[in-house]
Amino acid sequence: MELLSALERELKQLDERSLRRRRRIADTPCAPRVTVDGRDMLAFCSNDYLGLAAHPRLAAALQEGAALYGAGSGASHLISGHFRAHAQLEERLAEFMSPHLESARALYFCTGYMANLAILSALAGQGKTNADLFSEALNHASLIDGARLSRANLQIYPHGDTEALERLLKASTAATKVVVTDSVFSMDGDLAPLPRLLALCEQYGAWLVIDDAHGFGVLGEHGRGALEHYAMRSPHLVYMGTLGKAAGVGGAFVAAHETVIEWLVQRARPYIYTTAAAPALAHALLASIDIIAGDEGTQRRAHLQALIAQLKDALKLQRWQLWPSQTAIQPVVIGANDEALRAAAALNAQGLWVPAIRPPTVPVNTARLRITLSAAHTADDVAQLADAFNALEQG
Ligand SMILES: *Cc1c(COP(=O)(O)O)cnc(C)c1O
Repeated sequence: MELLSALERELKQLDERSLRRRRRIADTPCAPRVTVDGRDMLAFCSNDYLGLAAHPRLAAALQEGAALYGAGSGASHLISGHFRAHAQLEERLAEFMSPHLESARALYFCTGYMANLAILSALAGQGKTNADLFSEALNHASLIDGARLSRANLQIYPHGDTEALERLLKASTAATKVVVTDSVFSMDGDLAPLPRLLALCEQYGAWLVIDDAHGFGVLGEHGRGALEHYAMRSPHLVYMGTLGKAAGVGGAFVAAHETVIEWLVQRARPYIYTTAAAPALAHALLASIDIIAGDEGTQRRAHLQALIAQLKDALKLQRWQLWPSQTAIQPVVIGANDEALRAAAALNAQGLWVPAIRPPTVPVNTARLRITLSAAHTADDVAQLADAFNALEQG
């Protein structure tokens, strides 16, 4: 069939450019020690930054949630799928984030991808032909797709360039202005200059939408993420935190002024036209937020910071580059796709699982090994990884 052979030709081109991706099958829970494709590996690839994904307390809470509410929600939130556990989770998240937001309310989503589609389409879309959306160049794919869905007038500002953003804001005559950025850039690990971005948004009357997928639970003394890290508070803030990374379960939330949240409930199609997440997940997340906000969370964050410092100190690279990052995402940039793949394969042969990230996820010629650390790693795990990297680069 002509249609199939066209796809097959394109798949073959992916192979030729070392761009074909494949999935590995894990048989054990998300943890540093995993059995994947039948082999025991030491993994540095999950976003389980606090090591909660396989936490016995969360697994027990999930079972308890299933006993209370069954397996599925049965409907969308606005029909009949909104359960007590969803409401409790939203109240807990609003209270948790309230030091940083005025009249805080939170809304739970099935995924961060959908939350981002919802925020941008509801704030900058809705037939408001007169909306300008200012998007940082390295934003996550879900924000790019949300911008497209909004059909707002999209303007992209260069990575970290607040002066370029200011010029765009100054020139804008749109009634609605929205600036959107990742807080921690997912492939680089660096932080956006959020206080400066907020100052600009306040000056020019814009919303600041922050995607804190890699900050929530990890950054800040209590794990309130980038807003706590930078001690920010403003009615201009629309905050998105994911719950499948540091929080260890799944889903995401938006926290903002109650009026913004009510607007999303009424108008955000990615919120309205989908079946609500299983209430058992929300029930498990209540236990996760307790851990994040409590002493155990503080200890896990401190251990993670110690591992990050250890890794940066132990890597002695010459040809490859460890790009500067103070977060759990530590990119070793190699350049060529095939060399990055060969390096990943060599580590893999030693039982170390570090993913090679290639275009289009990252810019051309910046293929990299993306190390992610977790509080579940030990100092020995990190030492083993650093030794393997140092030997490999010299070899
Ligand atoms: C993972 C991620 C998302 C998507 O969140 P999911 O809950 O996995 O859908 C959005 N933004 C960024 C920056 C992410 O890293």
